[in-house]
Order: sequence, then structure tokens, then C-alpha cells
Amino acid sequence: MAVPKKKVSPSRMGMRRSHHAVAKEAHLECSNCGELKRPHHVCSACGHYDGREVAAADALKGVVRV
Ligand SMILES: [Zn+2]
Repeated sequence: MAVPKKKVSPSRMGMRRSHHAVAKEAHLECSNCGELKRPHHVCSACGHYDGREVAAADALKGVVRV
């Protein structure tokens, strides 16, 4: 079994873990109602997409995550 030759220092461990942060989820304001929504997704608050209503707002409740 391969075994590490040296103990990893706290500095090296920190350098390695500097890339481990969780990325922020993308979000935009809906152009119709101003609610936060995911880009390229139907707004879960008002059912609008690209300036027009494409789905009934209450039909999306609990279906679309923001
Ligand atoms: Zn909206």
C-alpha cells in the first residue's frame, strides 16, 4: 500500500482545501415580479419566463426550486 512519506503541514492542507468551498447557487431577479429565480428557469412565484406567463403560478408551488 502506498504510504505518504511526510505528514502534511497545516499550511499545505489549507492550500489544498482552498478549492473545497461550495459554489454559490446562481440566481437572478424575476423581470416580472422581482422575486429571486434561477436563470433560464420559469419564475416559481409568478410563472413568467422571457417576459410572458408560461405557467400558472400556483401550479408551480413546491415543484420549482429557487
Ligand atoms: Zn416572477
